[in-house]
Amino acid sequence: MHCGHWFRVRGPVYRVYGCGGGLMLIKDANKIIVSLSKPEKMPGFAYGIPAAECKTGSKLRLIPGSVCHGCYAFTGNYKRFPVIVQVQYKRLESIQNPLWVEAMATVINSERVSQHKVFRWHDAGDVQDLDHLNKIFAVCKLTPSVNHWMPTREAWIKDHLSRCPDNLIIRLSMTMIDQPAAGSWSNTSTVVTDGAATCPAPNQGGKCQDCRACWSKDIKNISYGKH
Ligand code: SF4
Repeated sequence: MHCGHWFRVRGPVYRVYGCGGGLMLIKDANKIIVSLSKPEKMPGFAYGIPAAECKTGSKLRLIPGSVCHGCYAFTGNYKRFPVIVQVQYKRLESIQNPLWVEAMATVINSERVSQHKVFRWHDAGDVQDLDHLNKIFAVCKLTPSVNHWMPTREAWIKDHLSRCPDNLIIRLSMTMIDQPAAGSWSNTSTVVTDGAATCPAPNQGGKCQDCRACWSKDIKNISYGKH
């Protein structure tokens, strides 16, 4: 794949610099994508874009009882350090760069990132549109040694799951607290208040440690305790 100049993920065609086109340097790739984020809880890197730009989440945020009400991306460090949000907006803008797919793949394939074997889309924000989703699919295809996990509130993505690369799991996040998982999706996540959450992070210092359940397609639903 890296040696071809062009490739297609059953949809748009993306250009990839390969053997003939010249390799992209990691430092140049980092400039294009702006930066990755490194959530303390997670075992690997992530990519965060502004939560204010979430299409479905922006509506849910106004609804008490929804999982987006009181969204963490508007509180804590995100609120205390507005520079984090500025960086997220720069990342969002960078997705329009025609070299963004190759740059993301170059950074994720680098030893610093790929050694963790897992990647999360997005520690803040959500998929913007079909073009964005196709680009994420393309990045995953170009980074086969890494397992990607993407929670989303964008239910329209279901129509495109048949094109989802094997190394990407997309979990539909249910919109309301204590809402049961949508059985029509292969993988989902829920937020529960009954004390029966399956995510072990709160019992292990708020970290994933050895757990990789969110990345496992064998685990149909993950439930998180309401903070
Ligand atoms: S279920 Fe496991 S992998 Fe997912 S967030 Fe919780 S600890 Fe991390």
